[in-house]
Amino acid sequence: MGIRENIEEINKIKEDTSIKAGKKPGEVLLIAVTKTRSSEEINEAIEAGITDIGENKVQEILDKYDSVKPVRWHMIGHLQTNKVKYIIDKVSLIHSVDSFRLAEEINKRAEQRQIIMDILVQVNSAQEESKFGITSAETGELIESILENCPHIRIRGLMCIAPFEDNPEDVRIYFREVKELFDKYAKHSHAGIDFQYLSMGMSHDFEAAIHEGSNMIRVGTAIFGERNYNKQI
Ligand SMILES: *Cc1c(COP(=O)(O)O)cnc(C)c1O
Repeated sequence: MGIRENIEEINKIKEDTSIKAGKKPGEVLLIAVTKTRSSEEINEAIEAGITDIGENKVQEILDKYDSVKPVRWHMIGHLQTNKVKYIIDKVSLIHSVDSFRLAEEINKRAEQRQIIMDILVQVNSAQEESKFGITSAETGELIESILENCPHIRIRGLMCIAPFEDNPEDVRIYFREVKELFDKYAKHSHAGIDFQYLSMGMSHDFEAAIHEGSNMIRVGTAIFGERNYNKQI
């Protein structure tokens, strides 16, 4: 199947699952994850209706930025502080904020450009060593530090990457833990916080994530096929 057919299929599953999960039609945003994909492939996805794309490396955003049709860019991967300056004016949401140091740098660069940067805090609820993100217990402290010190950041929600399990039902507990945190901070009233987005679910587990409250799914393989990291982009 081609990119367009895959997107149609995922949108259908997304909408069916959303209804089962008690959500309104269109409430869950599909972000096409385009790492290792060429600008041609990305443009094909955009022509098929994709409005938001996610990249996990700064260099890939810079390489493709000018040759991709107008679209919202999401930074979904680990972000080094020294690279914030390259993407601050290019991405609409940074999903991967997991330290105060990174938040401070984003705040500084946003201030220089006189913008407010939207971010998500990345929570590693399964506490996997191999993944970035903070623990659920550390989330409150990071959010409070950002609110106190970073007026050019607006915290829009949380992001989570679940561990890989053969049966995606088995990761629902990790999504649920992040949803509970989300509900807690959604009640927080402060100019620097406006919780709207819960970014959870990838090709393998997005249905489980939607059932647990996700409203942003990040899907790569199911749209574009298996990634080949040796291929030139
Ligand atoms: C690669 C990636 C995805 C998409 O993974 P697929 O399994 O290809 O759908 C989602 N989120 C992040 C942070 C990623 O790096």
